Amino acid sequence: MIVGLTGGIGSGKSTVAVAFAALGIPYVDADDVAREVVMPGEPALDEILAHFGDGVRLEDGTLDRAALRARIFDAPDERRWLESVTHPRIRQRLEEQLAELCTRAPYVLLVSPLLFESGQDALVARTLVVDVSMQTQRERTLRRDRVSEAQVDAILAAQLSREERLARADDVIDNEADPALLASKVDLLDQRYRYLSSTA
Ligand code: ATP
Repeated sequence: MIVGLTGGIGSGKSTVAVAFAALGIPYVDADDVAREVVMPGEPALDEILAHFGDGVRLEDGTLDRAALRARIFDAPDERRWLESVTHPRIRQRLEEQLAELCTRAPYVLLVSPLLFESGQDALVARTLVVDVSMQTQRERTLRRDRVSEAQVDAILAAQLSREERLARADDVIDNEADPALLASKVDLLDQRYRYLSSTA
């Protein structure tokens, strides 16, 4: 059984995933896989460089992600082209990694900020949303990352709203409070998922 773990920027997905890992539940992080498919030697990187030119290539041959972001910002056709190159490869690699982990755990997590937006929810049996207020998302992201308030707001605007995400969730974990309180909530969900996977 695969559980999709999602939530907006800075909501606490990684923190929750680590709490599940402490109980022996492995996870695949969709952001990591998205970075893997454009590493040097990967066909997607060659296609992107051929399309956008050397302006999106750093000196060491890796992708200049900031330059690429600038090229697709406000350019929906370019964004769609980029997604048509990367998304199928991300999907295939996610499926491979999840299938491998499924052979050695009762259930596994797919951690993805854009689980619903990208259609990756089609890969999972259930969805778990990490929920905090937008104000908390903003504060925690600004504390963690070197980004401006305007950048955080742009990311928030590009993601599903809190209400839309909650409406699509099978399960919700509230991460507004102290992280020490997460363990018992994760424990309860873990029991539920172990039970569900044993009866699936
Ligand atoms: P992103 O999608 O932006 O990568 P995320 O959803 O994976 O983020 P985390 O990285 O787990 O979120 O958490 C965001 C920040 O908030 C981190 O610095 C983390 O340590 C902190 N954090 C997580 N949960 C709590 C909490 N309950 N109380 C205070 N800080 C928290």
